[in-house]
Amino acid sequence: MSAASASGRWAWAEIDLAAVAHNVDVLRRTAAPAEVWAVVKADGYGHGAIAVARAARSAGCTGACVAFTAEGVALRQAGIDGPILVLSEQPASDAPAIVAAALTPTVSTITGVDALAAAGAVDLGVHVKVDTGMHRAGADPTDVLAVVEHIRRERRAVRLAGCFTHLAMADEPDDAFTQHQLDRFDDVLATLAAAGHDPPLVHAANSAGALAHPAARRGMVRAGIAVYGIAPGPSVDHLCRDLRPALSLRARVAAVRRVAAGERVSYGLHHTFPVATTLATVPIGYADGVRRGLWPGGELLVGGKRRPIVGVVTMDQLMVDCADDEVAPGDEVVLIGSQGGERITAADWARHLGTIAYEVTTGISARVPRHVVRTP
Ligand SMILES: *Cc1c(COP(=O)(O)O)cnc(C)c1O
Repeated sequence: MSAASASGRWAWAEIDLAAVAHNVDVLRRTAAPAEVWAVVKADGYGHGAIAVARAARSAGCTGACVAFTAEGVALRQAGIDGPILVLSEQPASDAPAIVAAALTPTVSTITGVDALAAAGAVDLGVHVKVDTGMHRAGADPTDVLAVVEHIRRERRAVRLAGCFTHLAMADEPDDAFTQHQLDRFDDVLATLAAAGHDPPLVHAANSAGALAHPAARRGMVRAGIAVYGIAPGPSVDHLCRDLRPALSLRARVAAVRRVAAGERVSYGLHHTFPVATTLATVPIGYADGVRRGLWPGGELLVGGKRRPIVGVVTMDQLMVDCADDEVAPGDEVVLIGSQGGERITAADWARHLGTIAYEVTTGISARVPRHVVRTP
């Protein structure tokens, strides 16, 4: 009996931690001598933050990154040691939780520094984030020195442990904006150096930066999507051939029926069968993250063959046209992953849905059980 059956649900995601370890290894070799910190925000891009953070740490990641305080606290409570960087400045009301869990906060403002001091921080390492052109988070380059000087004034509470920026166009290797951002970043670092500030860790690269822009690697890289074995985008696909996808999405056929030519299927009866066919019902739907946009045109794997989803995807179930194949309840179905010689990737879904693979895996909802496997 597989773990999947034991869960009681005939739909589950398998998380391959050996693939995570392999991908960390690839990234470490690519980025060396830079350190690799694993980005495990959004529950590890849908893979399970705690399991991935542990696996990444054993594979040589020296730190973890999260988006929000609560994500970092959950990792600490699960026993993840080492630095946990919260990637942007959090509300002042989070400062006590950041201090209590010994997270590594990002600061971009003087009030952010004050909040940590007021929360009782003692020699807490902080990273200063610089907005070099993405305009989402971080201090304006002209304000960075003032923030860093304030950190020095509050030196009993906080210590400058790092300085970083974030790239907006790293997944388009030919775009000049990445170099423009790195130039602005270097100007800021030069200003800090002239005032006697030397941040121990300097970083700029996400996965695409680490893979496609050697000049962005610096002291560490913040690798998210590549840790999960997924390319950051089609333009850097060729740099991701050694990565292995860590997530597969699987289910079992719940019901099989033979329908006659002219019958229709699912809500709205929008699909009419031109010939008699065998129809399988799969117990996974849009509330699990299998988006309605996957019909028409989306496929999944049954008996090692690509088979079309037919009719609208419903909240909890969808239907697949299996033609004249022998299909039985309990047969395994693959929505993302391999079966036989066939493979469907999160990037395939993303292309079909007009989105990115990040949204596909983070969109697999909490209702889908995650089962950790290790395939060597
Ligand atoms: C999400 C995020 C990353 C990781 O990006 P990937 O493209 O998944 O590697 C790195 N840095 C920051 C600031 C982020 O928000």
